[in-house]
Order: sequence, then structure tokens, then C-alpha cells
Amino acid sequence: MTIYQPDMSLKAKLRRRIVPFVARRVLKPKLARPIVSFSFDDCPKSVIENAIKPLAQENWRSTVYIAMGLCGTTNHLGLHMSADDVKALHEDGHEIADHTYSHIDAMQHSSKDFLADIEKNQAALNALNIPASQTFAYPYGQVTKDLKFTLATMFKGARGISSRESIEDIDLNQIRANRLYAGSEYEKVMNQIENIKNKPGWLPIFTHDVRENPSQYGCTPAQMRNVIKAVKSSGAQVLTMADAINHLELANV
Ligand SMILES: [Zn+2]
Repeated sequence: MTIYQPDMSLKAKLRRRIVPFVARRVLKPKLARPIVSFSFDDCPKSVIENAIKPLAQENWRSTVYIAMGLCGTTNHLGLHMSADDVKALHEDGHEIADHTYSHIDAMQHSSKDFLADIEKNQAALNALNIPASQTFAYPYGQVTKDLKFTLATMFKGARGISSRESIEDIDLNQIRANRLYAGSEYEKVMNQIENIKNKPGWLPIFTHDVRENPSQYGCTPAQMRNVIKAVKSSGAQVLTMADAINHLELANV
């Protein structure tokens, strides 16, 4: 199975370095209590049993960045959720958010085509009686300056994939989030949860498949349970991405 990789040319790398500094929408919240947001991308079905269920046991809700075109398909992340699964998660109070319909790379498509693909995803969600998405996540974390401007008018926030320290300023147009992937990224997330106890900030976390023998973009059920346990003992409040942004806007200084 060939796994799609974003453009690694020098030109693409330079663009990637510049984009975080343009079209910013910055928040500098002062928080008394840390916030953690769990998000799941694409989205593999294994997440329901191995992540959403244990989160729900704590009465916590997550954000699911769904690319509706992947529903029912199988790839390197395993089988993806069905449309009924997505609808059930919405009914259980999870935030169903946008990740384009076809899971396309922003740097490889015109803004027009990219926006049309978002519209297609929104129409698919609308057909399930799921309201318009409040937040967005860039597939592969690939962002362009034009889209940063445009998506700022469409969504409360747009998430990338670069990891962040919880105390940094927040750019709502390219929210930095931490990978919960098996391996060293897992240790990093555990350390960051430890750190937010003393320096309250926002820690958005994301992953893909959650199963035994996960892909390199996912984690194991045991790792997920450990992260949940650590978040619980940190005293952080757990909010969806959209709820966290509402909270951060009120705490902005
Ligand atoms: Zn994705």
C-alpha cells in the first residue's frame, strides 16, 4: 500500500516555514486551569472502541476531524467509520469537524478546488443532520497563506499538526497540536501533560488509529488509557476544540 507523502522539495519546505508567520489570528489567554482537547483525524473506526469509549467514561467529549470520502474505506489506518458511526458520535455530543471530503493536500490543489472539497464534506454532514463544522484540520498539516485567510472567515479555528508547547501564543488559523503517536511522540505528550500542571495552557492532542499494532500515525489502546489517566490527574479540563476556543477567547488578555 502506498502511503501519500506531502511534497518534501526545498520550495515546499520554505513555504512551510513562512506560512506560520502570515495571516495569523493570535490569542494569548491567561488560564487558571489547563485545557486538553482530544482530536481524531480521518477517522478510523478503532477510535470508537479504544479512545472515545474510555473518554466517555470520564464524561469527556472529543473532536472528530472527518473526511466523509473515507467513510467505510480501509487504508493503512485500518477500516474507517461509517456515516452512521459519525452520526452516533454527533448525537453523543462529540464535535464533528471538517477535514475536507477527499482528504486532499492544500499545497497540491488550487484554493478553489480545496474549498469545493470542504463544501462537499459539509454537504455530506448536512445530509446526516449534523450542523456546519466550527473547526477544521488541514490534511497532512499542509497549509497555504490564501487558505489561512479564507478559512478564518469560515471556521472558529483551523488545526495543523506541528507540536506546540502549551504556553505559546495560539494562532487560531494554524493551531499547533501534539501528535499522540506510538514511540517518542507518546513520551512527549506525557511530558507535556505533566508540564501543564505548573504552567496552565491549552494542549490539543491528535492521533489516528488506536489499536494494537497501530500505524505510525496512531497509538495503542494502552497508551490512550495512560494519557487519559495522566490528563485526569493533571486537573485539566477536557474540552472539544470548538469549546476550548470559546473558553480561550474569554480568557484572552
Ligand atoms: Zn488526516
